[in-house]
Amino acid sequence: MTSANVFQSRHFDLHQLADGVFAATHKKGGAAFSNAGIIDLGERTLVVDAFDTALAARDLRKVSEDMFSRPIDILTLTHSHNDHWIGASAFDQATTMYASKITRDETVKWGDELLEDTKNPDEWDEWVTEMEEQLQAEEDERARVDLEQSIRRTRYFIAEMSEFKPRYADQTLDESISFEGNQRQAEFRSYGAGHSSDDAVMLLHQDGIAFIGDIGFFNQQPFMGVCNLDHWRKQLEELRKSSFQSFVPGHGTLGSFDEIALQLEYFDIMENLIGQAVQKGDSLEEALQISLPEPFSSWLMGGMTRFKVNLRYMYKRLGGELQD
Ligand SMILES: [Zn+2]
Repeated sequence: MTSANVFQSRHFDLHQLADGVFAATHKKGGAAFSNAGIIDLGERTLVVDAFDTALAARDLRKVSEDMFSRPIDILTLTHSHNDHWIGASAFDQATTMYASKITRDETVKWGDELLEDTKNPDEWDEWVTEMEEQLQAEEDERARVDLEQSIRRTRYFIAEMSEFKPRYADQTLDESISFEGNQRQAEFRSYGAGHSSDDAVMLLHQDGIAFIGDIGFFNQQPFMGVCNLDHWRKQLEELRKSSFQSFVPGHGTLGSFDEIALQLEYFDIMENLIGQAVQKGDSLEEALQISLPEPFSSWLMGGMTRFKVNLRYMYKRLGGELQD
């Protein structure tokens, strides 16, 4: 199968990592908003994560079914954040869905909340209007790109909101499950709390490839809003010392050890700079003025909201007093 005769999606780029192993990385302007994977186990297809919308996930399903001429046997979720599983509703009952118990419970909770929110479509429209007004007034290009992305993402959800039927995991994993076909084996393993309350990875030991979900944000800011930073660092250190050579992150570009090292450096730099601000007695607002060195400073393009979330997390962690 060459890439020339594979259906091209406007939502993601498909990268072949090995014979029968593909990463689907989010395209700017598309409705995926996260990365996914397609793995041919041999007579069985396994998909890792399901994007932020059913619109993009339908393309993921189509690409996979076209390539291997069979239904998708297994769908696994790396973690509970919406941008990785809203699209799961695009898969039918031929596909068995797996997640950790913690991830499953959280998706059910958030899915219920989201279903409740879909009962008020006017509020979503108002939210978009508010963001559009902010965009009109915003002069900082970094924040403008951020707002444009949020508007686009919200519009994609509004478009499919009336049909939203959350799909949850059929099976849960405790620590690790092995999926086997007649060509390869894939290990689906929980790494515990780090970026989220439970991060699972898909390990292809024979191929040296690991799909690491949001443990990895490559060449962009990681989202630290609800993290356990100590565990997250350990997860990344473990992967950096592992025998895997190729990593597929939940967001950003494909990478290797260098990208993992850079992400760890981002944590260190944020910790140092915000630590200095806290020691000086800076307020959270004042701490926002820290200036990051390159390449991290470039990561702020379209990432100002995430920067503020991360800064707040780090400020609190380092003993800074929050006013609210
Ligand atoms: Zn996440």
